[in-house]
Amino acid sequence: MKIQALFYLFFLPIFAFAQNVHEPGDTPKEWSEPYTPFRIVGNIYYVGTADLACYLITTPKGNILINTGLSSSAEQIKRNVNTLGFKFNDIKILLTTQAHYDHMGAMAEIKKLTGAKMMVDEKDAAVMKDGGRSDYALGGKESSYAPVFADRLLKDGDHIRLGNTDITMLHHPGHTKGSCSFKLTTRDEKRSYVVLIANMPSIVTDKKFSEIPAYTEIEKDYASTFKSLKNQSFDIWLSSHASQFNLHDKHKPGNAYNPAAFIDRKGYDTVLAALEAAYNKKIGKQ
Ligand SMILES: [Zn+2]
Repeated sequence: MKIQALFYLFFLPIFAFAQNVHEPGDTPKEWSEPYTPFRIVGNIYYVGTADLACYLITTPKGNILINTGLSSSAEQIKRNVNTLGFKFNDIKILLTTQAHYDHMGAMAEIKKLTGAKMMVDEKDAAVMKDGGRSDYALGGKESSYAPVFADRLLKDGDHIRLGNTDITMLHHPGHTKGSCSFKLTTRDEKRSYVVLIANMPSIVTDKKFSEIPAYTEIEKDYASTFKSLKNQSFDIWLSSHASQFNLHDKHKPGNAYNPAAFIDRKGYDTVLAALEAAYNKKIGKQ
């Protein structure tokens, strides 16, 4: 009895963490190249790599980090946070726009280093806990990132509050079951801005939607996400990948603070329309 209790206490947690993590090797190299961090607007900063967007939202009560890039990106993110004059250890809340390895790769390590609380769309909590193994499209025998346990589960419309910042989570499923976007109002010296960090609903699977027993709601989930995203109003939009919102055209490293560069409703509507056309094609609708 005693030995059994000891086994569960000591060995089980080790087994739980010792499972193989195998990050896909076909990720474009340039995605994770270093990128100079900068202030986007108000208290929102870009601290990600060249394409894998990570956002630091600062408040007097500590900071929030959205997304982490690959497992190798932890050091870069830490350096970027420090370069901007913030403390890595002031990160109190961790969020992700989707539980895929290219946004979750360093999450477990950053959670361990900072002690921050992980909050996730409730529909991505299970896949996050097994490091992507149960993902309906990218899953398999091995985890593609180190598993992360959620401290708080979020539902559509839930608020994440820290200091003077209040972020609303918008449930935007399809890409993963718990993909989501974040909306908040931020201010600078001149004015306030409504900012949407949108998870753009690109299609991950080559299979027909009707052939995915692990995700029977996929077609209607995408439909509801397109509807919601089209109805959002905002001043500035950002996304999970820099390329999705044309970061590299809107900003050059070393540029002065210029939030107006990110005011781009037209670009948003264009990207969304292209994704919806791909979705309609997939479901055989023109
Ligand atoms: Zn993804």
